[in-house]
Amino acid sequence: MRLFIPGPTEVHPDVFAAMTHPQIGHRTPPLHDLVARVTPKLRRLFGTAGDAFTSTSSASAVLEATVRNLVRKRALALVCGEWSERWAVMAERNGVAVDRLSVPLGRVHDPADVSKALADGRYDAVLMVWCETSTGVLEPLADLVAAVRAHDDVMVCVDAVSALGGVELDVDRLGVDVCVAGVQKAMAMPPGLAVFTVSERALARARTIDARGYFVDFVAFHENLARDETPTTPSTAHLYALDVALDRIETEGMPARAARHRAMSERCREWAADRFGLFGDPAAASPTVTCLSNPDGVDLAGFLAAVRSRGYWLGGGFGELKGRTFRVGHMGEHTLDDVEALLAAMDDARRSGAA
Ligand SMILES: *Cc1c(COP(=O)(O)O)cnc(C)c1O
Repeated sequence: MRLFIPGPTEVHPDVFAAMTHPQIGHRTPPLHDLVARVTPKLRRLFGTAGDAFTSTSSASAVLEATVRNLVRKRALALVCGEWSERWAVMAERNGVAVDRLSVPLGRVHDPADVSKALADGRYDAVLMVWCETSTGVLEPLADLVAAVRAHDDVMVCVDAVSALGGVELDVDRLGVDVCVAGVQKAMAMPPGLAVFTVSERALARARTIDARGYFVDFVAFHENLARDETPTTPSTAHLYALDVALDRIETEGMPARAARHRAMSERCREWAADRFGLFGDPAAASPTVTCLSNPDGVDLAGFLAAVRSRGYWLGGGFGELKGRTFRVGHMGEHTLDDVEALLAAMDDARRSGAA
């Protein structure tokens, strides 16, 4: 079975093999060497000269920690689908004040609306999801970040979980304060690790908040990174895998990798155009995941099962879109040839009467 769900995705054997490295102690020189090897590569992937961390958790732990570490007054959540909605829920469940600025599913935010919402100074953090994996759109990150940075002291928090490793990023140039990603999406690693950046001003904000949590305390991460360590025991197996995964990304080069993801996305949209149709704004289509609609009311469960019987696992609709859409995750190690083979199998499943 090949995974074409929007994460986890296929993992290269070299990355898996790295995880079988003999166990090391987590406060010892081998761990320090490993962290010192990984950190510069992680900084380059994010595009930052500042702090780039790993957390032994899924990405959600760091997304939740972001609202605890950074929001003193009130957060504005840019909601455009299930994942951006969940970030707002995380704030609520932590007793952090949050308002939603919502757009219809499949659409992205207009920076002018964000500027308007920030005008009265009520908010001190904005939460945005770069690639909204549930609808397959990419928010206009640079313009949204610029709209937020026009206001003093409003932290820019970005969920780049399903984008990092598939789209080029430069958090320092954009002015992103916290950027969070999981490794099981376009970075093509086994799930279990999150990576994130924290800007100097975000760190300064965290220092002023006592109830910022313990497991992902940005201040503790910063202090530990100074000695190439993590606050709690890390999954050293994942750190060895990350070392190799980042080498693979650097060997290909992010420009080439981003172009490969764009090509896969374009091919999927071309295929979809005279089959199911694309869900969402085509101008904002994500390079890592394509969300297809179902105007003819095809039995999607039957179709996805028929595709599975041909060796490919696709993603169903997610959240409110369950049953109305399905998704192809084309990310990480996938190539255009893999996508062609997948689309041929999907055509075969359609011809067989499944759709
Ligand atoms: C997958 C995903 C998440 C959740 O990541 P976990 O590693 O499962 O916690 C969050 N946001 C987006 C946009 C995602 O695609």
